[in-house]
Amino acid sequence: MSRNVSRRDFLKATGAIATAAAVTPQSMLFGVETTTQAKKHWFKGNLHMHTQWSDGHPLAEWAVDWYKSNGYHFICPSDHNIFQSNELRFDGFGFSNPPSDSAAFEGEDSLWKVVSPTAGWPRLLQSHIDQMVEKFGADSVRTITVGDQTYVRMATYDELEAQFAEPGKFLMIPGYEQTGGAPNGQQVHVNFINVREIFAYIQAQTPLEILERTYAKGLELYEGQDYLFFANHPLWRYYDFSPNDLIALPQIRVFELNNNAMGGFDAHPEGWKPEKFWDVVNAHRAAHGQPLMWGLGTDDRHSYEVPPKAWCVVRAASLCTHELLAAIAAGDFYASNGLDFEEIQFDGKTLGVKIDVPSEGRYRIEFIGTKKDYDSSSRVIHVEKGERNPARKIDVYSDDIGVVLQTVEGTEGSYTLKSDDLYVRAKIVKVSDDLKPDWESEPAAWTQPYA
Ligand SMILES: [Zn+2]
Ligand SMILES: [Zn+2]
Repeated sequence: MSRNVSRRDFLKATGAIATAAAVTPQSMLFGVETTTQAKKHWFKGNLHMHTQWSDGHPLAEWAVDWYKSNGYHFICPSDHNIFQSNELRFDGFGFSNPPSDSAAFEGEDSLWKVVSPTAGWPRLLQSHIDQMVEKFGADSVRTITVGDQTYVRMATYDELEAQFAEPGKFLMIPGYEQTGGAPNGQQVHVNFINVREIFAYIQAQTPLEILERTYAKGLELYEGQDYLFFANHPLWRYYDFSPNDLIALPQIRVFELNNNAMGGFDAHPEGWKPEKFWDVVNAHRAAHGQPLMWGLGTDDRHSYEVPPKAWCVVRAASLCTHELLAAIAAGDFYASNGLDFEEIQFDGKTLGVKIDVPSEGRYRIEFIGTKKDYDSSSRVIHVEKGERNPARKIDVYSDDIGVVLQTVEGTEGSYTLKSDDLYVRAKIVKVSDDLKPDWESEPAAWTQPYA
């Protein structure tokens, strides 16, 4: 199956997994059991979140526990530009609080963060400590006071894993978010999943150059390791990188379709939204015989007062990092912000899906794709700095891209690729009066594209 080839290409392209060659190619991806294949299960996870190790609000134990207690099977605490190692330190993303006298920290390890009397980014507040104590008891927070400053010790990744991971129930994967941007302020963030070693943010003039060089650096540094690279929230803060950037970088195989953090900006009326971004890149890739790009759901939570906006559900034989990353590489997962698929099947020509209906109501399946004769041109519009948005150039694309090929009112449907289709993907929604388009549809879920 072409999807298996894609997975192998992906693993090769990311430099991921020396053991990839040892993975038995799946004869069928979609839940069809054969005598040689283990039964597959759906695992819900989030590969992008923040804790007090960077600028997330809760202490890491509290954050990890939240996911474990709320039905997630796996997570990666992907803090900004830091791995939760045992190196003794007092600084990190957006803060630096070395103690006036370091003698009190002799023999100590890990990150120590100062409790701030006033709120502000990315501070640790007494309320975050109270929240921990309430959940895990007074002994769960270790403090050292130097002068008038109280330092709190952050639990390391290994300690978090020892405390929360449970074989077959809850898996933790190490990783981090590489965070920074171009000199004009355009942000380029990427996640490295299943790595522990970080590297300095690669400065360059354009998002394209940053993405290209960061990807290449990952290949070099993590060579032979089983890891996942994805490009984060292209719309944040405001059209920060373009579909054209990922068209120019076919080696980037996964991006964030859904992400909590969209900066509060309204999308430009002519500009792309994340679903359109996805179709623009995949129309080009399919037309040029390149492997398609997968769309990931993440919540990128900083404040846990808000519910998570998206996650991903991965089909794998077991809850282990290698299986999950291989399934993601193969595109055997979906993005969701509230709905689930009971079934996703593709036999090389026909994509069939079934909604796992959570409650009464009207459900719709949209099969979305792009035709071979689509208009692939783009034009640029210049947006001036506004009250909330920075100045940007936005690439605008044809309406030919990402069209609804077929709609099914109901909970089960299929679409057979026509000779003039480049690819097809399915989106499921619960129909309501205030259903929004594109990535803001909710509740909804998105399969990966199939060709
Ligand atoms: Zn980010
Ligand atoms: Zn983030």
